[in-house]
This record gives sequence, structure tokens and C-alpha cells, in this order.
Amino acid sequence: MTSVNEAVGAVADGSGDPVAAARLAYEQHARACRQCRADGAHCAVAKHLLRIHNNARRAAGAR
Ligand SMILES: [Zn+2]
Repeated sequence: MTSVNEAVGAVADGSGDPVAAARLAYEQHARACRQCRADGAHCAVAKHLLRIHNNARRAAGAR
């Protein structure tokens, strides 16, 4: 099971743009997750990744 921890690890890596990394993690999940693809509804992991993306965006904007 690929998990939130892996995605978060990629984001926290610090290599490159954290906002882009967070969005990429979400997009990769949305593509790979059967639940997200089935009903277009966000599963718990997708929501978590979206929140990380929002936080990263907010942090970047606040700078
Ligand atoms: Zn999902």
C-alpha cells in the first residue's frame, strides 16, 4: 500500500518546490487510487494530500 507517509516524505524532502511536490503527490494518488477514480470522490488520503497542498501553497504565499 502506497501511503500518505511516502507522499509526505516526498513533500518534506525539500528538493524543489514543495507546492509542486504536494500537487504531484496528490495527482499521482488520484491516478493510482481506485476509490478516487471510481466515484470521483476524494478518499481520506486524497483529502490529506489536498490539505498538505493547501498548506504548502499558503506557506509559499505568506513568504
Ligand atoms: Zn484516493
